[in-house]
Amino acid sequence: MRDVVILGSGPAGLTAAIYAARGELRPLVLEGEPSSSSDQPGGQLMLTTEVENFPGFTHGVLGPELMVSMRAQAERFGAEIVTERASRVDLSTSPISIWIGDPGAEQPTLTTRTLIVATGARSLMLGVENEARLLGYGVSTCATCDGFFFRGKQIVVVGGGDSALEEALFLTKFGDTVTVVHRRKELRASKIMQDRAFTNDKITFRWDSLVTDVLGNERVSGVKLRDVSTGEESELATDGVFVAIGHSPTTELFAGQLEMDEAGYLVTYEGTKTSVPGVFACGDVQDHVYRQAITAAGSGCMAAIDAERHLSSLTESSQQGDLK
Ligand code: NAP
Repeated sequence: MRDVVILGSGPAGLTAAIYAARGELRPLVLEGEPSSSSDQPGGQLMLTTEVENFPGFTHGVLGPELMVSMRAQAERFGAEIVTERASRVDLSTSPISIWIGDPGAEQPTLTTRTLIVATGARSLMLGVENEARLLGYGVSTCATCDGFFFRGKQIVVVGGGDSALEEALFLTKFGDTVTVVHRRKELRASKIMQDRAFTNDKITFRWDSLVTDVLGNERVSGVKLRDVSTGEESELATDGVFVAIGHSPTTELFAGQLEMDEAGYLVTYEGTKTSVPGVFACGDVQDHVYRQAITAAGSGCMAAIDAERHLSSLTESSQQGDLK
């Protein structure tokens, strides 16, 4: 039985691991297994190139390099990191039960007094041929992270919801032009965001258009479009493609066991507590607002401290039980 098991190895999970390990709780991190190019241990920073807004790196740092350092830092203090993913959890047992491999196995693979959920969220992607290859080379899912690299450039934003318009408006600070490509004629975004976008001189719209591929060898040079009403194919030159068609939190494992909001994000109380005592959540799996590496890392620190306090309260109540 473990004191702390952490699911996920992005900035939230590894920061939780650093804090828990320094607190001598010998955390076990299930870092996940790569199941696709956009889903691998280390989280979304493994899919980015330069990270310039993580404090402490005057000249920026490569996303994967930052994650390798966080991992090594956690291991240095005794965190055990294994390349496995949980296939099932039972949060109704005390201690909590976790299965790796066959979820139908009678006995859980391990048990733990506390669980820190840091399984993150995935940006929904278009799924077109060259999108994954050019991710970090002109294709991005985060304007706050990457907008700065597109100063004076032509930018495309894909999507018609609030996220797309928020990204488009933010990107007008950097780009010469921002073209929002949307697959219908009406936006899904709120009226206020639509008004802001429509009155911004830098933003134009390509309606009824699907992005059918991203063009470019080393870096993005354009997108291929298909007009859904006429079927006509065209190309649009651009330096950057921001995909803003929504996010999906990785919470399937906790369905029916942890409280979630209508979009499937875990609900947290008083810091990182979830609806089940002893289970804490941090990072993008419980945050659809900020979604930054630094906010994920901050909440990972909070989760480790909350888990440590929970363990102390368990020890105190068992000692009181011994005295009775
Ligand atoms: P969303 O509301 O689900 O919008 C996703 C958009 O992407 C839709 O316009 C959708 O088109 C389009 N889309 C989906 N799949 C696509 C595909 N394969 N190819 C092309 N287009 C595709 O997601 P969101 O914009 O991320 O917003 C999520 C929630 O967060 C919403 O409730 C939103 O209001 C909220 N939010 C609020 C703010 C704010 O208030 N400032 C900012 C961001 C997000 P269709 O319209 O045709 O379905």
